[in-house]
Amino acid sequence: MPNSRGRLALERFQKALSWFESPVMTLEPPGESFMRSRSNKLVLFGVVLLMAGLAGRAAADTTPESRTQAKPAVSAPSATKAPSPKPSPKASKKPPVKQKAVAISAKKASGPAGSRMTTGTRAVALTFDDGPDPVQTPRILKLLAQQHVHATFCLVGRNVQKHPELVRQIVAGGHTLCNHTWNHDLKLGKKTAAQIRADLTRTSAAIHKAAPKAKIKYFRAPGGNFTPGVVAIARQLGMASLYWKVDPRDWDHPKGETDAQHKKRVISRVEHNTHPGAIVLSHDYAQPDTIAAYQTLLPWLKKRFTLIGL
Ligand SMILES: [Zn+2]
Repeated sequence: MPNSRGRLALERFQKALSWFESPVMTLEPPGESFMRSRSNKLVLFGVVLLMAGLAGRAAADTTPESRTQAKPAVSAPSATKAPSPKPSPKASKKPPVKQKAVAISAKKASGPAGSRMTTGTRAVALTFDDGPDPVQTPRILKLLAQQHVHATFCLVGRNVQKHPELVRQIVAGGHTLCNHTWNHDLKLGKKTAAQIRADLTRTSAAIHKAAPKAKIKYFRAPGGNFTPGVVAIARQLGMASLYWKVDPRDWDHPKGETDAQHKKRVISRVEHNTHPGAIVLSHDYAQPDTIAAYQTLLPWLKKRFTLIGL
């Protein structure tokens, strides 16, 4: 019952108080002033403890940004800097744990530098890189629309700048966008953090200029050359790093290989290597045989797998 419980608490409090006071009275008898100052100190100590407890709780409830004022944390941004929604590249070693939009489960993140290699389900995802291409991109978009398949397009900034209308067509088709650097920089990982950030930001800005409301969920390093630094900067810019599981090497045209042979090779490699959960890499930029291969591959894949846009 609340009343008796309350009374009990009061009694305990009084008992504790008398215990608290008594040693001071009995053990330290000499002089009124000494006793008063001693007990004042103890009361003050109690108040300080209480306040410290309250302050600690308050600090725990605040956001990491405001926490810097109460208690400098190791992972928090520098207290001298104004709180920023995006951590600096130097803080990239320990990125914020909560990044729900770009969170990658351990199952998906088995590519280089923690990049994503699989869909995380049994569904298969198709990705088309290096475009947009004024001839090949509309061809693959038409095929995908006919088959009711959504894919992911990894766009190169300078091609986006040349063909913004194609970015809008990709978005209108319900496909997912991926940043693939401004100029297909295969050595991006060797650049400084500022250069990497500038490249990715410039590319995303061009995509957004073409399609302002489009979400750029992914980043793919050209050649799949992911480094921890590149992955961290992409994450800070809101993009998950996207690798692949199946690479038919459609970009590779060995000497003596005819178009027909090339197309056959791409079909054969995708058919033999695609298993549930695979992310398949192909190119829609200057690869007419790839588009021809997907005329065969799309119906073949659809029969066996659920194809999803990431
Ligand atoms: Zn590429």
